[in-house]
Amino acid sequence: MNTIDLTQRNFTSPGQGYWPDATPEQWNDWQWQMRNSVKSLAQLTGKMTLSAEEHAGVLLANTKLAMGITPYFFNLIDPFDPECPIRRQMIPRIEEMTYAPTDMADPCGEDHDMPVPGLVHRYPDRVLFLVTDRCASYCRYCTRSRVVSGVGEQELELDFDRAIEYLQKHTEVRDVLLSGGDALLLSDKKLGDLLRRLRAIDHIEFLRIGSRVPIFLPQRITPELCTMLKEFHPLWMSVHVNHPKELTTEVREALGRLADAGIPLGNQSVLLKGVNDDPVVMKTLVQKLLRCRVRPYYLYQCDLIQGSSHLRTSVAKGLEIIENLRGHTTGYAIPQYVIDGPGGGGKIPVNPDYVVAKTPDSIVLRNYKGDIYEYPEVAPAENPASDSNPGYRRLEFFDPIEEREEITSRSWRAGRRD
Ligand code: SF4
Repeated sequence: MNTIDLTQRNFTSPGQGYWPDATPEQWNDWQWQMRNSVKSLAQLTGKMTLSAEEHAGVLLANTKLAMGITPYFFNLIDPFDPECPIRRQMIPRIEEMTYAPTDMADPCGEDHDMPVPGLVHRYPDRVLFLVTDRCASYCRYCTRSRVVSGVGEQELELDFDRAIEYLQKHTEVRDVLLSGGDALLLSDKKLGDLLRRLRAIDHIEFLRIGSRVPIFLPQRITPELCTMLKEFHPLWMSVHVNHPKELTTEVREALGRLADAGIPLGNQSVLLKGVNDDPVVMKTLVQKLLRCRVRPYYLYQCDLIQGSSHLRTSVAKGLEIIENLRGHTTGYAIPQYVIDGPGGGGKIPVNPDYVVAKTPDSIVLRNYKGDIYEYPEVAPAENPASDSNPGYRRLEFFDPIEEREEITSRSWRAGRRD
C-alpha cells in the first residue's frame, strides 16, 4: 500500500535544486523553465540513478510520447526512489511499450467527434477546443498521447478560423473548453485574441480552460496573465493535481492569483497505481486542494490508453477511495468518480452504492457508518416508480421481503420498521 509522509500536508518549496546557478529572474521566468526542461537521457543520468525499466523507457519515449519536465517540477522527484509518485507520472518506463488487448490509441473516441480540426463536439451544448499539442511537462498516462508532444504517429491539426466559423454557426453551443495540450502555453496575446473571438460569439455563455500549467509551471501564472483572463468572465479553470506533493508553496500562490482574478477553480485527478490509489493520499490531496481554493471536481478512472496498464488500478479501489471520503471529510472536498466510457461514451459517474433496497413504499439507505435508514416514498399517484404512473420508466425493485430480512441481520434500527 502506498503511504504518505505526513509532512506532505504542508506546503513547501522544492527550491532551485539541480539548478543552483540560475538567477532568480531566470528561475521565475516561465520561458526559461520551458527552455531548460529535462528532455534527454543525458540530462537525467546526471541527476539520478535510473532503474533498468526507466532507462529503457526513456530511450524509447521519443517514438511515442516525448519526455519533458520543467526544472521546477523535476525538483519534486525523489532521485533515490523509483516509486516516487512524481517520478511514476513523469519518467517513461519500458512498460509503456506493452499494449494490453483492451488498450486504445484514442480511448475517449475524440477523433470521431471532430467536425473541424481540433474541435470535439460530442455533447449538444458544449465543445472541447484543442488549441495546441504542447504541454509544460508530459504525463505518462496522457489520454491524448496520440497527438500531444509532437513525436507520436498522429499530428494534431489546428485551424482556429474554421473552428470559430463552426462555433458561430452552431448556436446550440453555449460552453467552450480550451485544452490541448495546454492552452496556457500560448502567449498572452495569442490566448487573449482567441478568447476575444470566442467572447464575440453571442450564444457562447461560458468559457473554461483545462490546464496543468499552474502545477508544472506556476511561474506562468503571472499577474499580467491573470489580468488578461479577467476580461473574459465567466471563465472557469480545471487544474490537474494527482498527489499532495504537487501542491507546493509556488503552486498555492499561483492558484491564489487565479482565484483572486475571480476564476473558479476545480481539480481533475486521474487515479493512478502507486501514485494516489490510497485513501490516505487522496484525503490529504483533496483537503490540501480546498486550502488552495480549489474544489476537487473529478476523479477519473485511468483511460485505456495504450501502454498505461502498469499505471491503472481497479475500479474497486476508486470506489474504496470515495467511500473513505464521503462522510469522513468536507463535502466540497469529494470529487465525482467517473469512467470515460471506452470509445466515446463520455463521463459516466460511478458511486459506492448507498441505496440498500427500493420498494414501491420506501427507499432503504445506508450512511457512511453503515447505519440503515428508511425514507418513505410519496403516495403512489405521485410516485414515478408506481404502476399508476405508466408514463415513467418502471424501476427494477429488489425483492422487498428478502432484502428486509437481510437488512435485519445487519443493523436495522429498532422502531423504524413498519
Ligand atoms: S498535461 Fe494534460 S494533455 Fe498534457 S500530457 Fe498531461 S494529461 Fe496530457
